[in-house]
Amino acid sequence: MLTGIRRIYRCPYCMGGRGIIAVDRDVALAPRPPGRQGEEIDLVRDLDQKIIVFEPDGAASGPCRHMVDFYVDGMVQRMENGVVVEKTFDFSTNWNHPWQIANDPDKDLSIFLWENLDHGRYSDFRPTTPYSFRRVERVWQSRRTRQRIPVVGWFIASLDATRFFAELAAAARQCQ
Ligand SMILES: [Zn+2]
Repeated sequence: MLTGIRRIYRCPYCMGGRGIIAVDRDVALAPRPPGRQGEEIDLVRDLDQKIIVFEPDGAASGPCRHMVDFYVDGMVQRMENGVVVEKTFDFSTNWNHPWQIANDPDKDLSIFLWENLDHGRYSDFRPTTPYSFRRVERVWQSRRTRQRIPVVGWFIASLDATRFFAELAAAARQCQ
């Protein structure tokens, strides 16, 4: 059965099993009016969105304080005889930290971050603040309903998000 909320990410810096980001599969599978087969969700402004769930008990309306930046893309596919025949819905979500909204309106630093993080010694940005960069892939499917939900997410978190952003801004300035 493709019902219920499933975790896709857990913050490595949160204690007590907190810092969880999940997908509500019932919302992803809900029937949509014609012409609404795709949805771009702004997790900062669109507070009524229900596909991405923060904490499984719904106790939070946003990610934990360690989250720096993340994207989640997913879709709903219809299958016949084990083969995908149609995409019935897709969604893409992005979330921006309050620091980014205040200091990076043109997203220059955000682009610099995604282009440079995790490229090891070839990177122009090597933060000293502990951070974690993870790509997560999940596929849920039901033979009975012949539906499939592939989801992919990219998550950057840091032990100290504010310090991380200060280091990011300094590194970007050095590269100019
Ligand atoms: Zn956390």
